Amino acid sequence: MKTAYNFNAGPCVLPKQAIENTIKALYDFDNTGIGIAEISHRTPGWEKLMADTRQLWRDLLNIPEEYEVLFLGGGASTQFMTVPANLLNKKAAYLQTGVWAKKAAKEAKLFGQVEIVANSEDKTYSYVPKGYSIPMDADYFHITTNNTIYGTEIKYDMDCPIMLVADMSSDIMSRPVDVKKYGLIYGGAQKNVGPAGVTFVIVKKDILGKITDRQYMNPLPTMVDYRTHAAEEAKNISMFNTPPVINIYMMYETLKWVKETVGGVAEMNKINTKKSNLLYEEIDRNSMFIGTAEKEDRSIMNHCFVMAPGYEDKQDAFMAFAKERGMVGIKGHRSVGGFRASLYNACPIEAVEALVQCMQDFEKANK
Ligand SMILES: *Cc1c(COP(=O)(O)O)cnc(C)c1O
Repeated sequence: MKTAYNFNAGPCVLPKQAIENTIKALYDFDNTGIGIAEISHRTPGWEKLMADTRQLWRDLLNIPEEYEVLFLGGGASTQFMTVPANLLNKKAAYLQTGVWAKKAAKEAKLFGQVEIVANSEDKTYSYVPKGYSIPMDADYFHITTNNTIYGTEIKYDMDCPIMLVADMSSDIMSRPVDVKKYGLIYGGAQKNVGPAGVTFVIVKKDILGKITDRQYMNPLPTMVDYRTHAAEEAKNISMFNTPPVINIYMMYETLKWVKETVGGVAEMNKINTKKSNLLYEEIDRNSMFIGTAEKEDRSIMNHCFVMAPGYEDKQDAFMAFAKERGMVGIKGHRSVGGFRASLYNACPIEAVEALVQCMQDFEKANK
């Protein structure tokens, strides 16, 4: 097979063992002689798989009992609507650190008042705003912990005076998270925990069912109400309707890899930090490139860089040079330009070393 170093921003590289085990399960799930896509989701084997997957989430992120772990469809983009539908009674506060955050706020406006507490659009979202104040009368404060397009990240669990809600689509499982500081955490699986098609929601049970004043969508449609999907939690099954079984199975294998092969999220974070530092050191050292994100806000997942002043005309040449060496998915998002290398959990350090070598060789050949 062709050697490809996959730096795609999402969907992204997944652990080889997760892929291999999923292929096996597609033929034969749990020694039943029937493939994972063909079994009933009400068989005990599948119910156990759901429970085991949920337990892996609990073990890896140390999720307290008072929280539900839900696996839904629709992607993070559907959560932009589902979150305010469940939690926005009168007003919500949003931190606008990128287009995903902006899209989330746009949906919230359908349900009530939205206050954008700070916005870094003025500098193409190259930094995370600081020194803003959070309105105490808001029902929740929404943040996007990792800004996938711009390569900025809130790498710590902030103390928030009101309920904190986080879109962690692109940095979930990259570091330990203090779940207790959040009311709700959500994201699409396809950046760090599996293939596209399953969405995770970690939600504190006692924040649900509190919409009293709102005119619209009150009561909530069944599928939109998180409690529908948590209703069977007592039996640890939680399947109101047919879940995306292949996707959840692959998420199970991916999380098993994080837990058993890597050794947990703290260990994962050490590896991610090492990979990230390796690439940022080269971006900062190499005279032909410069990073676009504010240094203190740099993401350890997505690394954005452009040609340094004077070398702008070399952009296409570097792209071709890198492609020739097997680099895939390093083109920057059109709003930032240049390059973006996403070093998600399953991206091996060899891929980062190959990219660094490629940047060094390009500098030698072109300076
Ligand atoms: C990719 C991404 C999304 C969109 O996820 P979908 O599952 O495609 O809807 C939302 N937020 C962030 C931070 C992302 O990286």
